[in-house]
Amino acid sequence: MTTPENSQEPHLPAGALLIGGEWLDSGSGGSHIHVNPATGKGQGQVPLAGIDEVNRAVSAARAAFPGWARMPANQRRDIMWRFADLIERNSEQLAVIGALENGKPISQSSSLSMTAEWARYYAGWVDKLQGEVVPAVMTPGLDYVLPEPYGVIAVILPWNGPFVIAAMSAVPALAAGNAVVIKPPELAPFTMVRFGEMALEAGFPPGVVNVITGGPEAGDALVRHPEVDKIAFTGGVKTAQSILHAAAESLRPSTMELGGKSANLIFEDADLELASQQAAMLGMVVNSGQGCALPTRLLVQESVYDEMVKRLVSLAASFKVGNPLLQETVMGPVISEASMQRIEGIIERTVSSHRGSLVAGGDRLRDELSGGFFLPPTIFMDVDPDSELAQTEVFGPVLSVTSFRDEDHGVELANRSLFGLGAFLSTQNLNRAHRVAAALNAGYVSVNGFAGLTPAAPFGGVKNSGFGREGGRAGIDEFTRLKNVFIAL
Ligand code: NAD
Repeated sequence: MTTPENSQEPHLPAGALLIGGEWLDSGSGGSHIHVNPATGKGQGQVPLAGIDEVNRAVSAARAAFPGWARMPANQRRDIMWRFADLIERNSEQLAVIGALENGKPISQSSSLSMTAEWARYYAGWVDKLQGEVVPAVMTPGLDYVLPEPYGVIAVILPWNGPFVIAAMSAVPALAAGNAVVIKPPELAPFTMVRFGEMALEAGFPPGVVNVITGGPEAGDALVRHPEVDKIAFTGGVKTAQSILHAAAESLRPSTMELGGKSANLIFEDADLELASQQAAMLGMVVNSGQGCALPTRLLVQESVYDEMVKRLVSLAASFKVGNPLLQETVMGPVISEASMQRIEGIIERTVSSHRGSLVAGGDRLRDELSGGFFLPPTIFMDVDPDSELAQTEVFGPVLSVTSFRDEDHGVELANRSLFGLGAFLSTQNLNRAHRVAAALNAGYVSVNGFAGLTPAAPFGGVKNSGFGREGGRAGIDEFTRLKNVFIAL
């Protein structure tokens, strides 16, 4: 599917809304010209869902739900398995669409194979979800407990990885027997068009998977819809607060996967070669720092601080920044001009307030990259741990580096954050690894490396990073509720 506006671009599908198995090329919410973050040029018109399409999508999901929930588990499992196969088969095309959509380099598209793994993992749960018989303690009888799907799940996605986040949220919801209405944002609509196309090709009955790209108004209408049974939200804290107000009025349960400012503790006994490479890649380069769980707050023990900063500065200059469609590119642009200006504001305030010293990057890249929204890997050292840079989610390639004296001080600084999504640490001391992991206030802790987001492990935050878990048994339990049946005998 190509439109005149995007016919120059490889493999970019036309924006469209999927409701009840039918595609709409316009919506009552108007339309949005999507801008390629690498060029700054418009590249396709995206129809936006308004209240009409939200109502139609929820009705379609509601109508499709009973048939999907009652379909024999082996048939549902096979559909989900085919869906995973399709993701894998189309991964190259999806990588290109992702690069055009939000600037993620095709060389960094391993998250797509991760997406297929999540889909397979949850396909595997479909025929294994089971209840239990509990003792009839006080009255003779048969007492059993069943996990049942909720019905219609509203899945609200952010722009920084809509496809993979849909695999972590919508996919387990479907595996549990729910129908979904997925709302991607207008900034990243195209991979989710392919998600909808592949869902139909895999054999999901019409209405089980609905995809309605839209802005905040569509999201608001969706979470307030009385026929929505649960909300699965991934995005920022302010939006979460607004959704939770709506959920409080309707008493709808919700999961909240929010932001982070993950600490990365480097102890003096760490393998500095490995630790510096990981700190640079995960702290600045991957997704240009636009990831909820990335360790953007580096804390280094005093005795190895200078050595670590020296290594990081040298590494920062070595990454190839540029066109995300080229295989040699390691780091792409940030998502938009507005985001660029917001990040530049944080950099300027950190410099002018002397709450950190700029030692790498800092200025937007011009010359042949001037049309797009490119910042080089940027490092501030000696950052005041209470400053804006150390405490807010920058969502750009800017690493905050602060020293710590000893283990207690390091842990105290790591936990000095409103967020608590991930935490990272490097040490060769096994006892310290366990001790510090236990002391860190975060939803997950990675020691001496990062396994990526593995489907078998629960992922989610504490404090302002939200609540609820994606992944593992916990991730499918989020989308079932328990019914108890007692039969007197
Ligand atoms: P955002 O909160 O601005 O938007 C997220 C989604 O909510 C979009 O689809 C948006 O249209 C919708 N929305 C906006 N206002 C709404 C409202 N009032 N009611 C309902 N929906 C509404 O976030 P963003 O800028 O798209 O994404 C970046 C944020 O997402 C960052 O904070 C990042 O850390 C977070 N994030 C978290 C995870 C995680 O798993 N924890 C993963 C990725 C991103």
